[in-house]
Amino acid sequence: MSAKIDDILTAARRHCDEVIRPGVDGWNATRKWPRAASDKAAALGLLGLYAPAEWGGQGLSLGDGIRVYEELGKGDGAYAFALSMHNICTFAVCGFGSEALKRDWARDLTSGRKLANFSLTEPQSGSDASTMYSKARINGDGTWTISGAKAWVSLAGEADIYLTVVKTSDAPGHKDMAMIAIPKGTKGLSFGPLYDTPSYSFLPMGEMYLDNVVVPEANIILPVGKGLQGSLMAIDIARVSIAAGCCGLMQSALDTALGYTKNRKMFGGTALDLDGIQWMLGEVATDLEASRLLYRAAANALGTPEGPLMAAHAKRFVPDAAIKAANTCTQAMGGMGLLTAYGLDRLSRLAQMLRIVDGTTEISRVVIGRALKKRAAELPDVPVPKGFGQA
Ligand SMILES: Cc1cc2nc3c(=O)[nH]c(=O)nc-3n(C[C@H](O)[C@H](O)[C@H](O)COP(=O)(O)OP(=O)(O)OC[C@H]3O[C@@H](n4cnc5c(N)ncnc54)[C@H](O)[C@@H]3O)c2cc1C
Repeated sequence: MSAKIDDILTAARRHCDEVIRPGVDGWNATRKWPRAASDKAAALGLLGLYAPAEWGGQGLSLGDGIRVYEELGKGDGAYAFALSMHNICTFAVCGFGSEALKRDWARDLTSGRKLANFSLTEPQSGSDASTMYSKARINGDGTWTISGAKAWVSLAGEADIYLTVVKTSDAPGHKDMAMIAIPKGTKGLSFGPLYDTPSYSFLPMGEMYLDNVVVPEANIILPVGKGLQGSLMAIDIARVSIAAGCCGLMQSALDTALGYTKNRKMFGGTALDLDGIQWMLGEVATDLEASRLLYRAAANALGTPEGPLMAAHAKRFVPDAAIKAANTCTQAMGGMGLLTAYGLDRLSRLAQMLRIVDGTTEISRVVIGRALKKRAAELPDVPVPKGFGQA
């Protein structure tokens, strides 16, 4: 591991201990995005993780940078998710944006002065993105006029730029899709009421409406035909980042349960002296080690042909393990595990949310199933033993 990633991980750990953990309950109570906190994260370099140094970024590899979310996830998985989305969008702007877009936005994004969102989901299309409607008309002067609606827009109204996937024709399917950056404040762009969500209410989420929004062609990030394919690459990074955040969540749940059970007196010793409690928490510890190995292997595979499958394995396995961990740790603490002050209920709800966002567990199973079928087709047939199925 390079010295730079060591420093960044130390900074992320500090940010978690000094800003996220003490702040998160207050953020949820006020239901407001903690911009002062994300500004502090930015000052530590956590908002330009993968962007090159020439644009003010840290220039980290995905394999290294994704580990930051394990640290942030110890404090809060939704906060880690939002920063991950911003980092992926910033990476896209620096990697695929026009020179004009980079000049106008890259440094503001890597410095965290501006925040970015990725908008793919629509009210009628989630897992099946090919049924989206939002559409851009390509004008004679090169500008695009976009109309439609997006749903589940994280940082809705708080982000300064929205990397939006749109169709460019009436043809069904995804071959005409593109991604274009729409700055907040552009005429015709508006937001619906914020969703009412449990346990991460500081993350503003809602619908985004596009009513004849005109954007210059310099804002195109993924050209016509590449919109869905490029988005799926971004989503693979997001899936592994979520798995990393879930590992932080599991560590946090486990540490809470250990810290409590080591002192809880019962049957002449402590709860943690009981084999049954050790076995429960031991299972969480094994799942955590397995999850950590899996997300790190998946992070290192991103950008290779194995990347999408490894990301699916990580997204399928780790959030489920995190839900189990949060619930097991609650159980190990008895009634005390239910008290809000210990935060385990918040962690359970966060883990459930992380099973859904950026491709559900079921969609990961679909990706894995497809890979299994491909492998099966390459394998020699396993014949049925002689005598079976013969009349
Ligand atoms: C907290 C949060 C933040 C989000 N932020 C953003 C954002 O910023 N930008 C954005 O674009 N999107 C965002 N999303 C949307 C998210 O990516 C979608 O919720 C997700 O892709 C699932 O889509 P859906 O909710 O419409 O579920 P649906 O697609 O309606 O799925 C319903 C159920 O059907 C299952 N299912 C679907 N297909 C299959 C299949 N083939 N086989 C078996 N089961 C299947 C699903 O797993 C799920 O259980 C966010 C979501 C959440 C919860």
